[in-house]
Amino acid sequence: MARLESSSIRQVLKTVWIIGGGWAGLSAAIELVDLGLKVRLIEAKKQLGGRARTVQLRSKEVDNGQHILLGAYKNTLSVMLRVGLKPDELLYRQRLDLRNAASKGFRLIGYQWLPVGIQFILGTIGCKGWSILDKFSLLMAAAKWVYSDFNCQQHLSVSDLCSGITNCVKNNFMSPLCLAVFNTPLELSSGSVFLRVLRDALLAHKGSSDLLIPRADMGELFPQAAQQWLNDRGCEITLAHRLKDCPLPKSSSLMDTGPDAVILACDAKSSARLVSSINEAWASQCSDLLHAAISTTYVHCTDPEFIKLERPIMMLEPSNAEDDFGEKTAQFVFDRGFLFQNHSNLIKAASNKKMLSFVSSYTSLPNELISAAVYDQARKELKLRDLEILGTVTEKSATFCCTPGTVRPGNKIIKNLWACGDYLEGPYPSTIEGAVMSGIQVAKMVAYDL
Ligand SMILES: Cc1cc2nc3c(=O)[nH]c(=O)nc-3n(C[C@H](O)[C@H](O)[C@H](O)COP(=O)(O)OP(=O)(O)OC[C@H]3O[C@@H](n4cnc5c(N)ncnc54)[C@H](O)[C@@H]3O)c2cc1C
Repeated sequence: MARLESSSIRQVLKTVWIIGGGWAGLSAAIELVDLGLKVRLIEAKKQLGGRARTVQLRSKEVDNGQHILLGAYKNTLSVMLRVGLKPDELLYRQRLDLRNAASKGFRLIGYQWLPVGIQFILGTIGCKGWSILDKFSLLMAAAKWVYSDFNCQQHLSVSDLCSGITNCVKNNFMSPLCLAVFNTPLELSSGSVFLRVLRDALLAHKGSSDLLIPRADMGELFPQAAQQWLNDRGCEITLAHRLKDCPLPKSSSLMDTGPDAVILACDAKSSARLVSSINEAWASQCSDLLHAAISTTYVHCTDPEFIKLERPIMMLEPSNAEDDFGEKTAQFVFDRGFLFQNHSNLIKAASNKKMLSFVSSYTSLPNELISAAVYDQARKELKLRDLEILGTVTEKSATFCCTPGTVRPGNKIIKNLWACGDYLEGPYPSTIEGAVMSGIQVAKMVAYDL
């Protein structure tokens, strides 16, 4: 008992600085505060949330990118609960359904109490628009993945895993799925990470393969509540302060003041810049990571006859460069009016009414061209009229490219200087769950080390 008390008193006196207030930094801060450490968090932007935050677009509040979570995001759901949020109210839960506006495409079918594997087989057999050969090719490939216990060699890409799959299934299922998970095409996405995501989504627990779609802005989904929770517990949060130099922990500086440990919760590029003179090898691993953009186009449909889409998320026809010259850019459309209809803030519900968001992954086009292509997609494929494009938000370095064999940096930089974030060594690609998991894991290591 005496040992426990003295160890917790020692921990109260220890201070940890966290640089970066994205989902990883916030999760690390929450874990450290819970473990009894004193935390100071410094964020470059005026608000918290990092790459999953709320932004202003023509005076409307939207997300910097439309996000989608999975039932398998157990760390994310649990940290939301910890700060007093109700994930069940904030996230619309939908059984895995990747059908397009014509209701063609894959979805899980059958009673939900059946094992997901059976629902997958039924979904494949019942998939509208696929031939028998298409269905058979996917089932055979899936059987191989199960037989290998969802493992494969590190150098294989998702494209390699699709070797026996027909072009129809590749274009209409594997490719959009891969873009949704990795934000990279099949040939640039790691096969082993894909299989791990598939295993965790399909086999972890009931509902782990469900799509969880935000019914609130990304800021409301976690960062704002996390900020309040941390403030209430005495955590010092400094916003709009971009650090140019990396603060060093006491043990590595000549000063006797300063933090006992520092966690860099920045994106890979910023971390590399801050650390280049401290640990060159670590910094160059960060700089070597490639990044890809995601664009989200917000469209308002003023047609009085339009009420809502049939489902709040729909897949769009894949681009076929041969016949449309690659003009289609977006892979998914979300109905924000549908999702926000029961939002507790009536102004927010009203401003999202009849608002759609279109997600274009792995983009390289300028925003005006993306907006124009989305406008065409909405008219031709969704048969919508009276469309007003609010604008396109592009995050140029939205995700790191989780390519086959990518070597990701570890989370220890030097003694008492750590890093967390979606790009560090971990089981998942660039995702919210990867970021949260990394933050919590590093916080535990720091607390243990101190
Ligand atoms: C458009 C878009 C769509 C996405 N879609 C999905 C999705 O559907 N599902 C999913 O799971 N994931 C998605 N992601 C990925 C997900 O958002 C990220 O993986 C996650 O937010 C990363 O969190 P992080 O805390 O690791 O990093 P970040 O969010 O990048 O946080 C780093 C923070 O550090 C701050 N910072 C940097 N340098 C400094 C400095 N020198 N001083 C102080 N502060 C600094 C930054 O301002 C930032 O707030 C998407 C990302 C984008 C951009």
